[in-house]
Amino acid sequence: MADLNAYITETRIEGDDDGPLAGKTVAVKDNISTEGVETTCGSKMLEGYTPPYDATVVERLKDAGATINGKANMDEFGMGTTTETSYFGATLNPVDTDRVPGGSSGGSAAAVAAGEADLALGSDTGGSIRAPAAFCGVVGIKPTYGLVSRYGLVAYANSLEQIGPIAPTVEEAAGLLDVLAGPDERDATTVEEGADSNYAAAADGDVAGMTIGIPVELVGGVDESQRLSSANQKSSISGDADEGVVETFWDAIAELEAQGAETVEVSMPSVEKAVAAYYVIAMSEASSNLARFDGTRYGLNVTDVDGAEELADEGNWNEAFAKTREEGFGPEVKRRILLGTFALSAGYHDRYYGKAQDARAWIKQDFDESLSEADVLASPTMPVPPFELGEGLEDPRTMYLADANTVPVNLANLPAISVPAGESDGLPVGMQIIGPKYGEEAIVRAASALE
Ligand code: GLN
Repeated sequence: MADLNAYITETRIEGDDDGPLAGKTVAVKDNISTEGVETTCGSKMLEGYTPPYDATVVERLKDAGATINGKANMDEFGMGTTTETSYFGATLNPVDTDRVPGGSSGGSAAAVAAGEADLALGSDTGGSIRAPAAFCGVVGIKPTYGLVSRYGLVAYANSLEQIGPIAPTVEEAAGLLDVLAGPDERDATTVEEGADSNYAAAADGDVAGMTIGIPVELVGGVDESQRLSSANQKSSISGDADEGVVETFWDAIAELEAQGAETVEVSMPSVEKAVAAYYVIAMSEASSNLARFDGTRYGLNVTDVDGAEELADEGNWNEAFAKTREEGFGPEVKRRILLGTFALSAGYHDRYYGKAQDARAWIKQDFDESLSEADVLASPTMPVPPFELGEGLEDPRTMYLADANTVPVNLANLPAISVPAGESDGLPVGMQIIGPKYGEEAIVRAASALE
């Protein structure tokens, strides 16, 4: 097979001799710190940066006996849905190498789908585990916020993101989550939950009597022109659900019904605002988090950039930083820092950031109500099949719309899994199953019934 460019760095970090992951290779997304092994976040800004410590999840992998075989390619700082914004070049989808693997954890999902790693870690701020899992035909879990330590994860948008597993099967993904989950004194947002989990045991396929809610707004059930009131243009990759994807989704729902699950339609009008709210919040947090990359502390240094060193020598630090950031960040990252800084600035804060927080609260409420009528909720993971390489880079807004089904889950801090639901025109389609807070067992159980 062609070189998929799934890894930024190939390596071999051996874990303990025994443990639940002994003999397994794990690809680790390149925004997760590995002691002494380059961690770039897919950015020129961090080329050559080697962290002095391991992320908690990396320690847990080693303790569980895993071998880390590489740092997986990703959209720069996690900002993208295709892995094409990586400074190190796009990753190819092993199912069809003319197409993207999804993103931002595209290297992780491609490595698993191609058998280049047994398992992988991704991170999911707005869909970055689920999107590539769906596009590559593998399983990915975005855990409940606080279930998995973020210590050592290079932050993009802290209030939204979680590290999680990608694997060929639901049981293996759940087993990897068992290794990762549980409290960490170095991350104060973690909780006692997950300390003695056995999510793998929930992969028993027993959905008899389970109620599955289907939010009409996430299956193309509403007039799409209402979803983003500003999106009056149409394109092959607008937020509109693809017919083949929707058909495959309903076939998989019928399969779950045949196994004894009950389905109910639920309505979540708030999700129409989710993409807009997500991007305001994510960009605002990113603008603050990425301020630390100033050319003096990590990776790219003012001394590496033409003209920046002279400015620094003259004591002109602001301009030396600006020159380094201009050189080190790609266009998508720059766009987000600018927009996020704007959304937070005096005079505009209430108009954008404040409104987005209100929408976030409304979305949480809609999920609470829907999940009082159903054990889990289901939708297509992605409204469309994998894009062709290059298709999405031109218009960022249409690309953002592809996240319509995944971002509501992060805004509500809930757990969700993407499991292969079938194929449309030979391309994988993922089903997303969303659970209540700490409802990992329920989503694992429901997803395992589709295998
Ligand atoms: N595609 C979304 C974004 O670009 C989600 C990315 C992610 O989950 N890291 O922000």
